[in-house]
Amino acid sequence: MNNNQTQHYDDNNIFAKILRKEIPCIKVFEDDLTLAFMDIMPQGDGHTLVIPKFPAIDLFELPESLTGDYLSTIQLVAGAVKRGMQADGIKVFQFNGAAAGQTVFHLHFHILPITSNKTQAHANVTANSNDLEKFAEKIRAEL
Ligand code: 5GP
Repeated sequence: MNNNQTQHYDDNNIFAKILRKEIPCIKVFEDDLTLAFMDIMPQGDGHTLVIPKFPAIDLFELPESLTGDYLSTIQLVAGAVKRGMQADGIKVFQFNGAAAGQTVFHLHFHILPITSNKTQAHANVTANSNDLEKFAEKIRAEL
């Protein structure tokens, strides 16, 4: 795809299926606008994703009226991840377009706790769901 083509939101992307509960996720937070859950191929322990329920491919498709509440949830969950994982720091990052590294075309922010040198640069291993549940429990306890 180049910049002159319009990409349409695909209702069958994996996060749309998670929102419709067609496939499971390990949830840490949900409200009317947002859902936060553990990344299945984490770049480190506690790697969490925050998505809007609005069907936006990327940041540019989210109506401005929702950006404030979405950022508030990102801030809330990032704080819980930091405390729950006892992280030294937190990376918050987000990709727009395949060229930028986006692989799931439903807007999402990554929240990645940084503790010493445990973070994997390129994660491609599906995590053990018991481990993800254990981390989710620590994060939920801080919300
Ligand atoms: P992107 O590169 O698009 O910013 O990242 C997409 C993220 O979604 C990746 O970190 C990947 O591990 C995660 N992911 C992909 N499929 C699933 C899934 O089915 N469940 C969950 N929880 N995360 C997923």
